[in-house]
Amino acid sequence: MEAQQNRKVFVEGRYRKLTRDLPQTVFFCPTCKGHPRRRKKCTKCEGFGKLTRDSVQELIGWVLGAEFKTRKSKFHGAGREDVDVRMLGSGRPFVMEFINPKVHSIDLAAMEAEINRRNAGRLELLGLHWTEKARVRVLKETHHAKEYEAVVDVEGEVTVADFAKALGERRTVEQDTPERVAYRRAAKTRERWVEYLTAAPVEGTVAEETPPGCSAFLVRVRCEHGTYVKEAISGEGGATRPSLADLIGQPCKCRTLDVLAILDDAGTEPVEVPTVEQPAGFGDGV
Ligand SMILES: [Zn+2]
Repeated sequence: MEAQQNRKVFVEGRYRKLTRDLPQTVFFCPTCKGHPRRRKKCTKCEGFGKLTRDSVQELIGWVLGAEFKTRKSKFHGAGREDVDVRMLGSGRPFVMEFINPKVHSIDLAAMEAEINRRNAGRLELLGLHWTEKARVRVLKETHHAKEYEAVVDVEGEVTVADFAKALGERRTVEQDTPERVAYRRAAKTRERWVEYLTAAPVEGTVAEETPPGCSAFLVRVRCEHGTYVKEAISGEGGATRPSLADLIGQPCKCRTLDVLAILDDAGTEPVEVPTVEQPAGFGDGV
């Protein structure tokens, strides 16, 4: 029975992703799918099997997996952000599951510090703690609104006053499935709420990188779960109605995007991660 009970252990925490080159999970090559034999001749990934060196999943899994003495793990995030979107604020909740660990008693606080030391400036973990399997389903099934900060390039001479029509109102928008995800999602139209909170001119190097003929703004926006934020801003040629571009009457492009907060479904309160004492019998898995 002892072995049965300890087949899996679950740890939970939050991650902050500080770069725009880190996917949440292993980014397998779409051509060879990382297959051990097929990848050898793959020209897309040149035999590497992946399109990025690492991921949030791997940076955590390598360190914890070595301690637990298992190579098998699964990553469960409370949603995900695009590779080029940073995850800031107090981070995104995740659960990581380790299968058949040979060692059970590890120091999670020390492991969190080690992961943060190794990945300074790229990935940061907060509040790593023991949890149980039931949290995976909660994480997967709970809807979260998000607050974002976008650098938006607007064509023409535009001022903050031009944002007045867009700000401070929660609107329902219609979104057709964007081009960039059309290969994996059925084409359909969804309705989501979007609320632009503030707009301010950009400063410093962000201002210096503004494309010619554009004015750039830092825009805070809250969106319902499952909103395509970049498209909500640009409108993608009418695929989102109304877009930020529609509201201010000028073409807009989302230059960069950061998640600032994972909120409850209503989009009012930051989501809480319960802290659980180490379960009795340990690694309350199976
Ligand atoms: Zn490949």
